[in-house]
Amino acid sequence: MNEKELEIVKSTNKKSKPQTDQISFGKTFTDHMFIMDYEADIGWNNPRIVPYEPITLDPASMIFHYGQTVFEGLKAYRSEDNRILLFRPDKNLQRLNLSSERLSIPAIDEESVMNYLKQLVSLEQDWIPTTEGTSLYIRPFIIATETNLSVAPSQSYKFMIILSPVGSYFSGGIKPVSINVEEQFTRAVKGGTGTAKTAGNYSSGYQAQAKAKNEGNADVLWLDGLEKRYIEEVGSMNIFFKINGEVVTPELNGSILNGITRMSIIEVLNEWEIPVVERKISIEELYQAYADGELEEAFGAGTAAVISPVGELNWLGRKMVINNNQIGALSKKLYDEITGIQTGKLVDSHQWILEV
Ligand SMILES: *Cc1c(COP(=O)(O)O)cnc(C)c1O
Repeated sequence: MNEKELEIVKSTNKKSKPQTDQISFGKTFTDHMFIMDYEADIGWNNPRIVPYEPITLDPASMIFHYGQTVFEGLKAYRSEDNRILLFRPDKNLQRLNLSSERLSIPAIDEESVMNYLKQLVSLEQDWIPTTEGTSLYIRPFIIATETNLSVAPSQSYKFMIILSPVGSYFSGGIKPVSINVEEQFTRAVKGGTGTAKTAGNYSSGYQAQAKAKNEGNADVLWLDGLEKRYIEEVGSMNIFFKINGEVVTPELNGSILNGITRMSIIEVLNEWEIPVVERKISIEELYQAYADGELEEAFGAGTAAVISPVGELNWLGRKMVINNNQIGALSKKLYDEITGIQTGKLVDSHQWILEV
């Protein structure tokens, strides 16, 4: 695919930027957004950066009826020496195309989209907050726009990128969270859409999330859909356990989302020569390790929090309090390493950083 020329229409009505300590996640957006269209006969076309504004869609647009949509989530960080850094953005665009394939959405050209994304972030660079722990969240997504109620893949789409400044995930310091092991609902099964970042995977988790919250938990730990035994992941994070000196994370099994934070953590642990295995792990095995005093640390891993320590796991009325409800030494070390690379404080020996 040839790169199409990018049109840029600048906003004449700039918004005021929020104080970094007053931003709640995902409610503030920058002055511009990126859009391109897809039509079956011409492919992706008309890439443009335009003022951020509502879009108009026909009520019969296919996205509203059969959920043909995918998204990504990544961040731009401002380094101390004022550079703009993206963390492994190529992996996000690759994964977007994998999600699209699952949802029968046409692939984007990763190289051109990377270029458009960089131009959008560069134009909006004054929106990247600078306080420790803050960043500019980048949300690329695709929606099906054909006006048609037939149950079939849409013949037209919109690809968009919107940007949202985010405050520190851990504004009061890193606090371990309490997680409920979900026994009733299922997030995904092999052969389904669990490996894709697609809307329905998230809305179908809200009931379980509400139950968990009612009982004082921050999130849900999903078990496999077939046997309700094997641990899969948290709402929007992969999960890691440190058991008797070894780090264990559920293997990618066709229903778990392949997290970029997860893959980076595994690479860092290998480099540090800390034993790490990807394998099936059942909730019974985890509970036994806890009962034997061998469950040393647990943490979620994803772009939003990077590392989110789990202080408490609730499973069928049984409570596991992990590491005294404190962040573990390894969790902290991984957090410092990954965020250090992301913000340019540490040397990027893996070539994970793309400078805008
Ligand atoms: C996005 C996501 C993750 C984490 O992926 P990252 O690439 O590390 O941000 C994990 N699980 C689910 C369900 C997700 O949607």
